Amino acid sequence: MSQTQTARLMDGVGLARRIVEETSSKAAELARRVGVTPCLATVLVGEDPASVTYVRMKRARCAKAGIESRHVSLPATTTTAELVETLQSLSQDAGVHGILLQHPVGPHIDERAAFEAIAPEKDVDGVTMRSFGAMSFGLPGFASCTPGGIMRLLDEYEVDLAGQRAVVVGRSAILGKPVGMLLLARDATVTYCHSRTTDLAAIVQEADVVVAAVGRPRLVRGEDIKPGAVVIDAGYNPGNVGDVDFDTARTRARLITPVPGGVGPMTIAVLLAQTVDAASIQLGLAGR
Ligand code: NAP
Repeated sequence: MSQTQTARLMDGVGLARRIVEETSSKAAELARRVGVTPCLATVLVGEDPASVTYVRMKRARCAKAGIESRHVSLPATTTTAELVETLQSLSQDAGVHGILLQHPVGPHIDERAAFEAIAPEKDVDGVTMRSFGAMSFGLPGFASCTPGGIMRLLDEYEVDLAGQRAVVVGRSAILGKPVGMLLLARDATVTYCHSRTTDLAAIVQEADVVVAAVGRPRLVRGEDIKPGAVVIDAGYNPGNVGDVDFDTARTRARLITPVPGGVGPMTIAVLLAQTVDAASIQLGLAGR
């Protein structure tokens, strides 16, 4: 592809809409067959405005898709032990099929301990070590939502990953690490980059598939994108700016996700889909 060509945009909005429509039909089917409405419990600690907005958005999407949501709002002073107890009790509640702990939780809370209090069969946000292990071993389990959404986008655009060099920039437990594992499971040759990586540009230049998951505006330079590469930008920075220099990258890439409208909408779509799947499995109506 020459530098004057423009990459095809990967439309996360359209794909997410289709996933939510399918999910909504499955939820309606469950209600019709066994009289049970799938239920997602959302847990929020404190009142961070961004977190409050995210939870509100997720609950509104649940309602539109015919999924019930049960919200638990805890004060900012909640201790790790109290949060663990809440999550364990939701894990044991047969009326709850999926659990979402909005994160980050306060710095005084042991976030890992809190995540691990979520029963794996209700871990529809894919945050537990068990879910990560299942993802890494290619075993049944729930994917971390943003990585799961990225894989669905790659599949939608028929990106054959086998033998491709994939570079993941970022190694967080909920995004960079799991997306690398999912790419590896599809036989890509995966390189992780992070804040201590030296010569990021040289590594990106080798990539057939780049996944940017950092949270730094335009960190990945467009001029470093290999002509014909596939570029997935999971970053979301103030002003609707991604982690990739979109304007230049799109003149070199074959496929690229816009920000917004690429990866973002996929995250909630996967959360809803996994909640309905969790309900089906718990009700004995589906194999995972
Ligand atoms: P995070 O936990 O802050 O992790 C950021 C990662 O980037 C870390 O691994 C860090 O390396 C690495 N990094 C920082 N500076 C770097 C540099 N100069 N060069 C290379 N790597 C660098 O962030 P996150 O939760 O994974 O989120 C990443 C981005 O994705 C954010 O913009 C966030 O808003 C977005 N996001 C979007 C969605 C969605 O639904 N679209 C969902 C989740 C997150 P170290 O490990 O060495 O510190």
